[in-house]
Amino acid sequence: MKSQDYMDREEKFGAHNYHPLPVVLERGEGVYVWDVEGKRYYDFLSAYSAVNQGHCHPKIVNALAEQSKILTLTSRAFYNNVLGEYEEFITNYFGYDKVLPMNTGAEGDETAIKLCRKWAYQKKGISENEARIIVCEGNFHGRTITVISMSTDPEARNEFGPYTPGFITIPYNNIDALEKEIKNPNVAGFLVEPIQGEAGVFVPDEGYLKKAYNLCRKNNVLFIADEVQTGIARTGKLLACDHEGVHPDILILGKALSGGVLPVSAVLADDDIMLTIKPGEHGSTFGGNPVAAKVAIAALEVVKEEKLAENAERLGEIFRNEFRNIDSEMIKLVRGKGLLNAVVISPKGGKKAWDVCLTMKEYGVIAKPTHGDIIRFAPPLTITEEQLRDAMERIKKAFREFE
Ligand SMILES: *Cc1c(COP(=O)(O)O)cnc(C)c1O
Repeated sequence: MKSQDYMDREEKFGAHNYHPLPVVLERGEGVYVWDVEGKRYYDFLSAYSAVNQGHCHPKIVNALAEQSKILTLTSRAFYNNVLGEYEEFITNYFGYDKVLPMNTGAEGDETAIKLCRKWAYQKKGISENEARIIVCEGNFHGRTITVISMSTDPEARNEFGPYTPGFITIPYNNIDALEKEIKNPNVAGFLVEPIQGEAGVFVPDEGYLKKAYNLCRKNNVLFIADEVQTGIARTGKLLACDHEGVHPDILILGKALSGGVLPVSAVLADDDIMLTIKPGEHGSTFGGNPVAAKVAIAALEVVKEEKLAENAERLGEIFRNEFRNIDSEMIKLVRGKGLLNAVVISPKGGKKAWDVCLTMKEYGVIAKPTHGDIIRFAPPLTITEEQLRDAMERIKKAFREFE
């Protein structure tokens, strides 16, 4: 079978809820993936930052293989001998009292919302059903009904109503708007992405997170950080919040928590918040399963052992500098932090970001446009300087085709 046959089959039998770049991958190793014709590409999407540790990292894959031979799932109806090890490990790693394990990022966000509401009624004394959570325009927190109820993206929302109430939407990166809304005594939480990834890598002004955090403190409101995409070394620190010394009250992690091997997400908080949820009030059949637990420990160990945050910080600088030096009318703006970057494309002669991605693919680099005119560049954090410079040469050649 050729690439086209695989694409035709997906088209015929799969729901049409994605529009993939026309490349059919069959193998991955580190920063590289290979298509079914054997052509090699640099992966500059990293599965939306789930593969920060690189494709098929041997240590993570080994953890998966070993544990899956011993015990895969008990459900939380029983204890198992691995979950506690993981809970101790991850809470120490990020500096929280407790963790609540889930699977996908959207479930992590749902969990954080439920936790925040429980805390609102039990600790803040808000009347039942009155709790409000402030969210930001342009957010992306996943695809479930409650999560899209917070969204302002028509594509994500339209014709999926009715929506879950209880959210107040303010502009992102706007402290005045937050200061105004947070005075409402029914506000229990402020849910924010430290950098808006899906929206096109919007980096807020320096000091925004710190100011927002301080406003939360002052008003007894929980600062909830969705670091599903920005966390785990992607932006050059372990967490994007670390750039401003902010320790969120509730932290949501996913994606790279498993190095792209399994869906593993987690919500972290201290006892005062986490213990408001009691047995039977929340859970997940697969959340905290022994395979996920072993995989997450290995994935987090790799981040420290291979100094991925430091690498992302250093190579991110090189990436943005190199990109800003490309002489192309199509490059309107380059922005980002660490190895989470985006380039805003000005269409030229009817050619758009999609066409640039198709041409980059021909030169052996795959990335995907978001919102029509933005290309996100996020290679695995294991990339070396030599690999990055080689990929940059290919990207430059692709842009030259449009001159
Ligand atoms: C990807 C993402 C999610 C959703 O994660 P899923 O695993 O796809 O449910 C939530 N928040 C942010 C910031 C994300 O980037």
